[in-house]
Formats: sequence, C-alpha cells, structure tokens
Amino acid sequence: MIMKKLCYVLICVLSLVLFYGCGGNASASANNTENTEVQAEEGEGEEVTNSDENADAKLNEEAVGEPIKDKAELKKMSTFLSNFTELGMFDFTTEDLLKNPDDTRLIHFGIWHNYGNSFKTKVSSCSDSDCPHGSLVIDAKNVTETIKKYFDVDFKSHKSVKPDFDFYAEYLYYYDGKRYHFNGADGEATFFARVKKASKDASSQITMTGELYNANDESEIIGTFKALAKPYKYDGKDTWAIISMANRFH
Ligand SMILES: [Zn+2]
Repeated sequence: MIMKKLCYVLICVLSLVLFYGCGGNASASANNTENTEVQAEEGEGEEVTNSDENADAKLNEEAVGEPIKDKAELKKMSTFLSNFTELGMFDFTTEDLLKNPDDTRLIHFGIWHNYGNSFKTKVSSCSDSDCPHGSLVIDAKNVTETIKKYFDVDFKSHKSVKPDFDFYAEYLYYYDGKRYHFNGADGEATFFARVKKASKDASSQITMTGELYNANDESEIIGTFKALAKPYKYDGKDTWAIISMANRFH
C-alpha cells in the first residue's frame, strides 16, 4: 500500500517537474520568437526608410544630358514603361533580376505580358486531361521572346515557380520542359507610367522620369518613378530595353 502511494507521489512530482520544465521552455522560446519578430520588423522599418530616402534622392536627381522634348516620343516611352508597371514591376534592375535565381519576375513578366497583350495568339487552353497545373498554357519560347524584347536578355533559365502561399496549387507556373501551365487571373488594380521628362546621356542611355497613375482613373497619381533604358532594335523596330526602374509611392 505504502509503496503504491509512494509511487503515485513520485509520478506526480515527476509530472510536475516535466510540466513546468516544458512549460518554462515553451514560454521562453515563445518570448524569443517574439523578440526576433519585433527586431525583424524594426530592421525592415529602417530598411524601408533608407530605401525611401535613396529612391527620393534618385528621383530628385536632375537628369543629365540632352533633353528629349518630342511629345510623341515621350508618349511611346510611357507605353513602353507601362508594360512593366501594369505587372507591378516598379523597382528593379535588369542586372539584379538575372543575378538572383530566386527572383522569378522575368518569368512572371513573360507570362503575364502575353496574357494581357497577346492572349489570343500566344496563350491557349491546356489540353492535358485534368491538368493539375492550371487551365492555360503558353510556350516557353513566347516567354523567351517577350523577355528579349523588353530587357534585351537571352533568357534560358525556364523553371517551375512555386506560389508564395501554398493554399491551392503546388505551382504558380508549372514548366513541363516546353510550356508553362498556369491559371488566369483578372481584376487587380493596374498602374501605368506617364513620362514627363526624358534625356539622353553621352552613352545614349535614356533617363525617363514621371508619374505613376491608376489605369482606371488617370487623375489618381500614386507616385513617381525614374527609369533607365537603352535604345534598342527589336524585330527591325526601334524601341528600348529596360536597364532599371525605381519608384516612390505618394
Ligand atoms: Zn496544363
């Protein structure tokens, strides 16, 4: 009887020790997590401020070189830059897009540019029965051509792209070695670029500055931008290839 009672007490004590031991650790690690999160947030905050200041400095810099005043030319530049801003690309350098293998914005641009501008000729329905990767397909060759046209880059790193949030699909864009499978999407607010000033420097690169506006309401200005591009001939036509873009939202 006494042995049984002793055992019971021992078990109770052991359980208590274990309970508090684990509980203590758990709350300690929870505190640690909280601390890291707060620090991360503070860090991000600082970074945002710095990059905002840099963006401001960049945008306020006086454009050097020979000014381009031709209204039709400025309008063409606006259309050129709107190809990037309509897909949410406001802040990038082409060099960085190529350097970072985790940055899939070139693939994103190649797919959605065709979806928005050449849907009938470049995008088709997936004919695979019950394709798990989306109802649409586009040849990777069309993505390559679009990247060449706007960035003057010979893109070869085609690959499947995973979604940021993994709720419904394993892939955002599934690359089968020849085509991308994906799902269509519509209805997001899009922003266009209006070039106000442009100038050509000694190496013929063009600096373009202006404002970003809501595509559905031209009077709604959401920020300013500065872009750098180089004159470029694609498919026998004069155009530009983008080098960099920076923006500042109001
Ligand atoms: Zn498919």
